[in-house]
Amino acid sequence: MEFKLTKEQQLIQSVARDYAEKAIAPLIEEIVEKNEVPDEIIDGLKDLDLFALPISDEYGGAGAGYASYVLAEEQLSRICPGVAVIVSVNNVGAAAMSIFGTEEQKKKYLPMGTTGSGVFSFAFTEPGTGSDPKQITATADRDGDYYVLNATKRFITNSSYEGPIIVFARDTETGHINGYIVDKFCEGYSISEPWKKMGVRGAPLYDVYLKDVKIPKDNILGGPGQGFWILKVAMALGKIGISSIFLGAMLAAYEEGLTYATAKTHRGAPIAKFQAIQMAIADMFMKYEAARWMAYRIGYLADNAQDKGDILKDSAAAKIFITETAIDVARIALNIHGSYGLMEDYKISRVWKDVIFGSQVEGVSHLLKVLIAGEILKG
Ligand SMILES: Cc1cc2nc3c(=O)[nH]c(=O)nc-3n(C[C@H](O)[C@H](O)[C@H](O)COP(=O)(O)OP(=O)(O)OC[C@H]3O[C@@H](n4cnc5c(N)ncnc54)[C@H](O)[C@@H]3O)c2cc1C
Repeated sequence: MEFKLTKEQQLIQSVARDYAEKAIAPLIEEIVEKNEVPDEIIDGLKDLDLFALPISDEYGGAGAGYASYVLAEEQLSRICPGVAVIVSVNNVGAAAMSIFGTEEQKKKYLPMGTTGSGVFSFAFTEPGTGSDPKQITATADRDGDYYVLNATKRFITNSSYEGPIIVFARDTETGHINGYIVDKFCEGYSISEPWKKMGVRGAPLYDVYLKDVKIPKDNILGGPGQGFWILKVAMALGKIGISSIFLGAMLAAYEEGLTYATAKTHRGAPIAKFQAIQMAIADMFMKYEAARWMAYRIGYLADNAQDKGDILKDSAAAKIFITETAIDVARIALNIHGSYGLMEDYKISRVWKDVIFGSQVEGVSHLLKVLIAGEILKG
């Protein structure tokens, strides 16, 4: 057991931290205001090989694995969770394609989300269902050598960028849920106005409409009948991204709490002199350290799993613990700020609105606890 980063991991962590501080931080007000990340930030991440860290270099990724990915995502999210969410969802789609795609699909689509001008989307949520994919109503009708897709998909990240979107829909002939690969902005593809999202600004959500979208019959990811398994594996990997993102947001909260405690004075001395504030600082430290090692470990487990499906239980546990702990830490940091923390002039107010997202995405906590217990009881 070694609790230390390799030289390569240290380098990736510092490149991500540096880029976040120098290129993203100066634009943060604009990103939050417009709920949009400028294209040059995405291009910059691609140039630095930070956009598709776990994807094989054969297809334009960095081939650096999930442990490095966790480190980079934490640093990006420490400055802007929205940027880290764009990266995370790109990697969910790209990872699903890396694992389940045919060679032809990988050659055609993966470079779009690694070095090219595209960004992956991954669409399962609908107005009627998020947590329960068995209720998916999107349809795929076989028509000779094609499928014709009709769907309304809700809250879809990266759907305004060009590139591939993996759409989960039911084959009306077989009843199977499959993942269908669609080129965004093809004929029949459109998106709604962006949702007015309270936090994680910069990664806007849209509803996606597919109206009689025609795709070749071979554009089923992993072949017919694999949809649920692909969803499970991709979501397990997606939870690594979400864990890292909310670890980064937690770190931002911790740092803001600490800075305020040492800067704000009462009777001429920093409020950090108060024992209550010292306990709050210790609580933030303990929670961040516990969450950090849980996040780093899940990256390590993913890198060492023969079958990525083996990390289902651990990635769900990490995701629940880290996203809920991020709320705890932000709450402590907010308390340290007194009323100032409620003012938008203070960064902690933004972090507070960000951390609340973690437990609602990539599997709500209740459902994931049921999944974890099911795996444990299976023995
Ligand atoms: C920032 C963000 C990005 C997103 N990006 C995407 C994306 O790119 N692609 C995509 O497809 N979706 C995306 N989503 C949607 C998100 O994944 C879903 O909202 C999420 O899966 C929860 O679904 P729901 O909102 O329909 O909640 P529901 O499934 O309706 O759940 C509501 C509540 O019911 C309870 N519940 C439901 N089922 C169970 C159960 N079986 N056992 C116990 N309790 C249960 C839970 O308490 C839950 O909190 C995104 C959402 C956000 C906020």
